[in-house]
Amino acid sequence: MPTPLQEMPVPDHYRLLGVAPRATEAQIKAAYRKLSRVYHPDVQGGSPIAEDCFKLIASAYAELSDAARRLNYDRMLMLRDPLRLVDDPRAERALDVLDTVVTRLRKRPAILPGTSQGRDLRVEHPLPFARAMLGGLTTVRAEFATTCTQCRGAGTNEPERNPVCHVCQGHGTLKTGLRRQDLKCGFCSGRGLLVLAPCKGCGGSGQVPTHQDVDVHVPVRCRDGAHLRVRGGGEALAGGKPGDLVVVVRIQPHAFLRADGDDLVCQVPLMWSESVAGARVPVPTLDGTQWLTVPPGTPPGREFRIGGHGLPISSNPAGMAKRGALRIQVFIDMPTELTPSQGAAILALEAQLGVQRFARAVAYRASVGAVDPSGSAP
Ligand SMILES: [Zn+2]
Ligand SMILES: [Zn+2]
Repeated sequence: MPTPLQEMPVPDHYRLLGVAPRATEAQIKAAYRKLSRVYHPDVQGGSPIAEDCFKLIASAYAELSDAARRLNYDRMLMLRDPLRLVDDPRAERALDVLDTVVTRLRKRPAILPGTSQGRDLRVEHPLPFARAMLGGLTTVRAEFATTCTQCRGAGTNEPERNPVCHVCQGHGTLKTGLRRQDLKCGFCSGRGLLVLAPCKGCGGSGQVPTHQDVDVHVPVRCRDGAHLRVRGGGEALAGGKPGDLVVVVRIQPHAFLRADGDDLVCQVPLMWSESVAGARVPVPTLDGTQWLTVPPGTPPGREFRIGGHGLPISSNPAGMAKRGALRIQVFIDMPTELTPSQGAAILALEAQLGVQRFARAVAYRASVGAVDPSGSAP
């Protein structure tokens, strides 16, 4: 867990030690001793947060307890924050909060989870083509942070070991700059207290990652990018009303099927011999593989129809929906890049068949030549 001390500007040395800028040497020493009893890592069982806090306090003490260094520091502080020396009425009693830890914690319900409404979660969900077209249920995983059960969201089970921040007096903010703006306290990260004994279940954040699997109803012929909302399927915090789950559908295209109106179209490649002699070829459908009998002498471009294997027809009332057709278009998977001897064999076969067997090619050349003699074939 990152320590909160790295995120915000570190408060000045007097604030870190909880003394007024005009404090005497003895007051500074006494403050350092008092803070050591709270933040020394030996006292806090090696808590890394206590260690970071103590480093700041110790380095502030090292500078202010040396008269020459303190003089320099005071000049620098006057330049950086000229109003710093005049407006700190609480400074004399800053360390009193260290004695009132438990009371202050009880008075700070803001750090405890309220009965807060969970947020809506938005999840992009890949959906197979068949599920998107036919509709039905799909399971979507919703991931979110929920209230830690070990500490009930407090971030700690030992509130008496977590002192109120003496730097900001538990307010979480400090007045800084010429405008005396409230900026987040850099000692406690604006929490108003230091969690020196964090909950082992959540590391002090009060929340743990969790997930739930939600069954989502997909309508028939669902569009890509459609938003499907599941009430109460979102983030759920202890004692609070759960948010909604919003599923953004991303349809995975089918390798062979595409929609065309109410029909599905599938392009099926045939080998030359299959086109000539006929074959049984497998055809993918939304409902599993079907077998198509291709009769002998099937030319490329011929279309076969399997009724009832297209898309559900949307105007049909719920129940056994009427469906469009699956249209199968065959084409010939012609080998190219033949060797010279293979090419010669093809030419020999064509010669043997005779030019009259290529009636369409002959007719095409004849008619194009009749329209535009200059474009006729050599
Ligand atoms: Zn603070
Ligand atoms: Zn916890």
